[in-house]
Amino acid sequence: MTEPAGRGELVLRGIPVAPGVARASVLVMSKADDHSIPKTHITREEIPAQMNRLQGALVATRKEIMAIQQKVTAALGAADASIFEAQLLVLEDHALIDGIQRLMEKEPVNIEYAFNEVANRFVNGLSEIGDEYLRERAADMRDVTARVLSHLQGGRGAVDLSHLKEPCILVSHDLAPSVTATMDRRMVLGFATNVGSRTSHTAIMARSLKIPAVVGLRNVTSQLADGQPALLDGYNGQLIINPTDQTLYEYGQIVRLKGDLDARLGQLKDKAAETLDGHRIMLSANMGQAGDVDGVLASGAEGVGLFRSEFLFLNREDLPTEEEQFAIYRQAAERLAPHVLIVRTLDLGGDKIRPGAETPPEWNSFLGLRAIRLCLQEPELFRPQIRAILRASAFGNVKMMYPMISTISEIQAARQVVEECREDLRQAGIPFNEHMDIGAMVEVPSAALTADTLSRHVSFLSIGTNDLIQYALAVDRLNERIAHLYEPTHPSVIQLIKMTVDAAHANGIWAGLCGEMAGDPELVPLLLGLEVDELSVASPLVSQIKYLVRRLTMKKARELAAFALGCDSAAEILNRSREVARQAAPALFEKFTATRD
Ligand code: PEP
Ligand code: MG
Repeated sequence: MTEPAGRGELVLRGIPVAPGVARASVLVMSKADDHSIPKTHITREEIPAQMNRLQGALVATRKEIMAIQQKVTAALGAADASIFEAQLLVLEDHALIDGIQRLMEKEPVNIEYAFNEVANRFVNGLSEIGDEYLRERAADMRDVTARVLSHLQGGRGAVDLSHLKEPCILVSHDLAPSVTATMDRRMVLGFATNVGSRTSHTAIMARSLKIPAVVGLRNVTSQLADGQPALLDGYNGQLIINPTDQTLYEYGQIVRLKGDLDARLGQLKDKAAETLDGHRIMLSANMGQAGDVDGVLASGAEGVGLFRSEFLFLNREDLPTEEEQFAIYRQAAERLAPHVLIVRTLDLGGDKIRPGAETPPEWNSFLGLRAIRLCLQEPELFRPQIRAILRASAFGNVKMMYPMISTISEIQAARQVVEECREDLRQAGIPFNEHMDIGAMVEVPSAALTADTLSRHVSFLSIGTNDLIQYALAVDRLNERIAHLYEPTHPSVIQLIKMTVDAAHANGIWAGLCGEMAGDPELVPLLLGLEVDELSVASPLVSQIKYLVRRLTMKKARELAAFALGCDSAAEILNRSREVARQAAPALFEKFTATRD
């Protein structure tokens, strides 16, 4: 949606997913269907490293094509699969590599750009020749080029964001979490995308990196050109191109107001998340990178309720070793102690694809080989992580939980691996906490429906509403075209949360909630009323949520939950919870608070 607002100024509206205001010129990245690559200059010394990256991408592409070739041979026979021979030949073409080397020596640039330039020259040259065979070679070349570029860019067709030279607001079709993870935070001041939603992992990462972000701007990449001055409003979901002086002044005011509120909220740092009538909950933070511990400690959170350990795997091609993981978990545990560190075991899959992973693409990756399913199938991923977490448990208040549990047998299978790792550590005399709590995430409706049984096998439950909502409502959490159907207050979601919490309490364990719902001030009164014991939120949101909890009463929250459990309208439940929140803490709902309208 576009609306003119003053001479030359253009306001584009999308979905606000990470708060804050950024001002810079835009850098427009490749649209979904083209491969325009920004050019960045590098030093001569950097050329060998860039050429090595190219070699890596060529090898990965080769493996990928051979895997496809095998599949096609099995399904259709060797004759049909022979087209891939031609593609493999492209990868061995010395003229291509020599051309790139020459270009790099003439003008050292990022390898994506050099590769794309030279490959395009080849493709254009071949397509202009009137020979059918050579025209087909051009098509092969185009296909292979796209694959190599995709590998160079972290697997999803985006660019290398670690080599930007100037601050920018990044505008792109989409951003994969693996690309966001490698982004130079000093250069990317904000980002805006055509597609996406609040609970995509890219949005979650933007919040924890404190990068203002707006997604779901439809065709923003085709409306803008590099270098246009812009202002990104991550509170209200606006990208303003050519902002006028008046707009800049107004945003200056917003930033000032926000600063005042932050100062007020900062005073709560050492206070508990306790309601006016004395009900205390645990308020913890979510983290994804080792460096996030500083933000967690500064936020006043009572520890980490969700360490998305898979983020450690997203910004690199190889796997972090047991030692590397141990060092990270241990350091985080030591720094957070006596507060808790809950490490979630690997949740790769879905929208979190590891660069260089050779897993075949899945038609429906959120229903595929993801999280605990992947770990149970691939012990070489799982065991080093379990050992690292166990070892770190000797150095702080470490707990562990499994993602995407859908059946009790997964808990049992995981327990067996844990038992084996424990025994190995015992044998080797390596210390660990024999009594470390192990919990399960409730993200799949089947887990919520059988939470009673589940609760007898674990020490705690943590509700992952980002997934629970998508699986309960059959609404892809990444798809902005159906974002209006992704309703956290849908009566079925409320029932699933209630069932889970009640089952946990009936079995004497606690139930937390670590999905994005927990950090949404409008929903917190409802979650409190549903008797959730812990809320785990992005660390920049901790102080807001604490401020709100301290202004609510359990009496009101319970009345609200009772209303919600008897109501069949998601909108009415949302409105009622919103009303309670706004009444209790109006300051949180000024213009600078990202809300869903
Ligand atoms: C969730 O699903 O709510 C959750 C916390 O896990 P993730 O967002 O990483 O899938
Ligand atoms: Mg999840």
